[in-house]
Amino acid sequence: MLTQKMEIYWAVKEMAKDLGFADSGCAAASEVSASVKDAYLYAKEAGFFAGMEYLHNNIEKRFNPQLLVDGADTVLVFLAPFSLPQGCTPPEGVSQYALGEDYHQVIKKKLFQIMEMLESRIEGFSGRAFTDSAPVLEREWGVRAGLGFVGKNNFLISPRCGIKNFIGTIICNAGLPPTVEMEPEKAACSAGGCGECTRCLDACPSGALCRSYTMDAGKCISYHTIENRRLKEDLAMGVVPNLGNRYYGCDACMDACPWNSRNLPGWKEFHTNRPMLQQARYEWWKGLTKEEFKANFKGSPILRGGLENIITALEWGRKQGNNG
Ligand code: SF4
Ligand code: SF4
Repeated sequence: MLTQKMEIYWAVKEMAKDLGFADSGCAAASEVSASVKDAYLYAKEAGFFAGMEYLHNNIEKRFNPQLLVDGADTVLVFLAPFSLPQGCTPPEGVSQYALGEDYHQVIKKKLFQIMEMLESRIEGFSGRAFTDSAPVLEREWGVRAGLGFVGKNNFLISPRCGIKNFIGTIICNAGLPPTVEMEPEKAACSAGGCGECTRCLDACPSGALCRSYTMDAGKCISYHTIENRRLKEDLAMGVVPNLGNRYYGCDACMDACPWNSRNLPGWKEFHTNRPMLQQARYEWWKGLTKEEFKANFKGSPILRGGLENIITALEWGRKQGNNG
């Protein structure tokens, strides 16, 4: 039985590789550690979730995947690279993760293919696929699956394939052996760390990385430009210092990280809008109707922030002397 599960483990790994995932791993679906819970509850109590009310919900399910998916015993974790190919300049003002198709859809399609394979090989298989769309502590599962460590900038960092990776998970009843047993050399990936480095903390323009491993979303430019529906008022109140020319997200704490040298080239689906965004300036955005905005960015993460926030951010930046 174990041999069969080991074979399926390697079949998942092989299929993930064929589908383009940079790495994959497996962990037992049990409760997260006390230190992970404490860090989450501390951030919640300190108000670091800002207006993201959904982070206050389903906390027990976040801490225990068995409460999220009936009968779960296995968490499979997959890294999908989104880095631009070498020599390709990213457009200004917009976060790299948003340059292409919506990663939720792109990644889930591939996770469903893996689930179909598991269904065909495991009697009574059941599971659910997630990509940043449910109460799942994805970075923690990446660590437990031997894929990397959480950096001081709060991203999952893989010593094998860098920092610019989306995380997809399948929580299921496959009963597969964990990566730390199947590939013991990977334990070192989770045990890695930032050492004395503080580049991300130093690079954060707004002081949102208030201390290592802790991010105050209420000060974070990514949160404000993408999620905040009161951006105009908050900008006027000085809540978002040093916005610069950013109008959708912020990559400063990610770009500062030396582990970028390990990034693998991202999937082409994640860059489809790059040429259009490279040309986009304030006048272009200002001239778009809501319908044109929706048509241009159909199936893109950029729809989430909304046209109004983009224009508000750009207008603020121009007032501050930027010319984006
Ligand atoms: S995304 Fe930007 S503002 Fe937010 S923590 Fe990172 S560097 Fe700071
Ligand atoms: S920039 Fe340095 S401190 Fe920050 S996550 Fe990367 S290695 Fe860690």
